Amino acid sequence: MGLPRFIVAGNWKMNLSLSEAQTMLSALQVPTAGSNDVGVWLAVPAPYLHPLSQCCPEGLTLGAQHAHGAEAGAFTGEHSYTMLHDAGASFTLIGHSERRQFFGETNESATERCLALLSHPFPVVFCIGESLEEREAGTTEAVLRAQLLPLLKALSSEQAASLVVAYEPVWAIGTGKVASLEQIEETHAMIKKLLQSHSFDLPVLYGGSVKPDNFATIAALDAVDGGLIGGASLKAESFQELIAIGFEQAGVA
Ligand code: PEP
Repeated sequence: MGLPRFIVAGNWKMNLSLSEAQTMLSALQVPTAGSNDVGVWLAVPAPYLHPLSQCCPEGLTLGAQHAHGAEAGAFTGEHSYTMLHDAGASFTLIGHSERRQFFGETNESATERCLALLSHPFPVVFCIGESLEEREAGTTEAVLRAQLLPLLKALSSEQAASLVVAYEPVWAIGTGKVASLEQIEETHAMIKKLLQSHSFDLPVLYGGSVKPDNFATIAALDAVDGGLIGGASLKAESFQELIAIGFEQAGVA
């Protein structure tokens, strides 16, 4: 089955105790009608995948925040596709800016991981975004091209069928500083053009301080196919509101 038309993806990062996580999921009501059109995805800490898969509401897809491309080996602290999949993950984020900032992820390593993972039936949300300095220096387009091009050059059409791009300006992540609608529209259009120039038509999500009070206008932009949401995905109430906006936007409310 192909990817949904619109994706509301949460990213819990390294937050919540297991019991808080279970309580949050038990309070969540995910519409199941229209779930082929709207994906409700949640990237949780890897140790929670298995316990949460036991109490996951129908319609919610659990995923990982990072994965290794190899099947097995001497990679202390890493998890392979099979491990994550067996534990309950049905997708993974790759190249999140926090992996790039704090854990040495590079364009090359993210590309390599992403291509390896896409050889399995395992959707990948590939995260890209510029820093504030790069935006202010006018190099946003060059930075995003450098992040995406190695992947696009190596990607097969089969792999592309499971690939989602998330545009997350680094300066908007966890800062409360959301990009303006003009900035989002312009940057998403540029990303879509780059994808099209390689004959790919992939969903592009926006991430960066998305909240229930700004998501509807962002989601309504033509080139936006969903959101990647950190802080506001931690509470059932705000995640629920974001999910409702996603279903409304896709016309299946
Ligand atoms: C994220 O984790 O990718 C993110 C966008 O976080 P926040 O929504 O908190 O800015």
